[in-house]
Amino acid sequence: MKLFRFGEPGQEQPGVIVDGVSYDVSGFGEDYTEGFFQHEGLARLQTYVRENEGRLPEIPAGVRLGSAIARPSKIVCIGLNYADHARETNAAIPKEPIVFFKATTALCGPNDDVVIPRGAEKLDWEVELGVVIGKKASYVSEAEALNYVAGYVLHNDYSERAFQLERGGQWVKGKSNDTFAPVGPFLATPDELGDIDNLRLWLTVNGETMQDGSTSNLIFHVPALVSYLSQFMTLLPGDLISTGTPAGVGLGMNPQVYLKPGDVVELGIEGLGTSRQTVRAYAQD
Ligand code: ZN
Repeated sequence: MKLFRFGEPGQEQPGVIVDGVSYDVSGFGEDYTEGFFQHEGLARLQTYVRENEGRLPEIPAGVRLGSAIARPSKIVCIGLNYADHARETNAAIPKEPIVFFKATTALCGPNDDVVIPRGAEKLDWEVELGVVIGKKASYVSEAEALNYVAGYVLHNDYSERAFQLERGGQWVKGKSNDTFAPVGPFLATPDELGDIDNLRLWLTVNGETMQDGSTSNLIFHVPALVSYLSQFMTLLPGDLISTGTPAGVGLGMNPQVYLKPGDVVELGIEGLGTSRQTVRAYAQD
């Protein structure tokens, strides 16, 4: 099953994609929240879709998409999880996963504009495979870990490198501004994807390829990450884990390249669709 959310910001309604057609399932009455995933929402939604076949309203093309999931309890990100990316940033290959948080208020639609924060000069991109948790996970073994996954999403882990690296303290400061987490176009359940350890992921800026990698090069793969994180925190249904980015970020270039107003960032992961963000300057209301 493929799940997405559509409508104006803050008023998104749930949708599903069946055989390539997008349907409105607002009649199901639930958003894709912690409660949805916790109470077998995926199975119940599948039944609802089957029972209402032929009666669900289609959604016209061009409708705004929201984040594929409602705001979760946390967004947990993994740093330097591709060896080529660790090398390009002159960082050591991590011996254990590097973990940091991104504010959940950064979440936005996959094709929304990305806003350069006030005072920012080093806005950078990071295409990443996102993992959405399906049930409460605490002290989960690697062998069991995939039973705790509801599905996968495309995520651009936008990063302001000066905020992240030059202002002291934790990376969270460079990862959390509004619009820094476009998620979607849709959540794909694991059965839709096949081998998650061999997905191509790519990103272009103004049509020029910047990142072109494969999840086969992850240092710590999804089961290891879910298990590892669950030793330090309880993962709740709907939580998002972003698994790290391959080489090709602006920080790693010589000279470094950062985004400016009007730039267009496009990205995709095999089986998880594509997204597109236009960069714009912060405007005071
Ligand atoms: Zn990242």
